[in-house]
Amino acid sequence: MHSDFQEFEKGHTNFQKVKFNESKERFQKLIDDGQDPKALFIGCSDSRVMPAMITGSKPGDLFIVRNIGNFVAPFSPENNYHATASAIEYAVSVLEISDIIVCGHSHCGAIEALYKDIKETKENIHTIKWLELGAEAKKVAMLAYKNGSKEEMLRYTEKISVIYQLDNLLTYPAVKKRVENGTLHLHGWYYNMENGKIYYYDNKAYEFKELCKK
Ligand SMILES: [Zn+2]
Repeated sequence: MHSDFQEFEKGHTNFQKVKFNESKERFQKLIDDGQDPKALFIGCSDSRVMPAMITGSKPGDLFIVRNIGNFVAPFSPENNYHATASAIEYAVSVLEISDIIVCGHSHCGAIEALYKDIKETKENIHTIKWLELGAEAKKVAMLAYKNGSKEEMLRYTEKISVIYQLDNLLTYPAVKKRVENGTLHLHGWYYNMENGKIYYYDNKAYEFKELCKK
């Protein structure tokens, strides 16, 4: 298999020689004062979605969770390992962040996989289970785009899914409490890879609007 792994060595050398030096004081301050991120960013693991780059964030700005499809599993405190849930709780209750962003994106492989008939094996068992978190969005999209194009339906599913994940966030007692007392704000974002634009969900207008300030 072809590997470009050595690229990382070069990249790290450059980081050490240039970027780390440039931000040395900032890094030291983040160690001395501890982190105080501005938001929890829940995004897809997709390598083409770059949370820091598309938001212009600096070290210490974003507390990030990434998973397949930027899904949020509903609160279910049984005896299991919940990576996304624990990151949400830590961000909300310990770091006391003021904002949570759930960021979906166009051309999402996880959303596309919802429409494929994938057989469960020992090699994909967790993935199949995880993709159940997109089932509601798929259901709505199938109803809305029964006669539409596949591409339209996929883009719609990606957006609708973000709204469902915001609903799932509210199943966490820590989140619900702080949203209700006005100290925590939830944001649904959609990153379009074709034009590099972020759209935010306006829950009063029921539409996604451009985040970019004109
Ligand atoms: Zn994705």
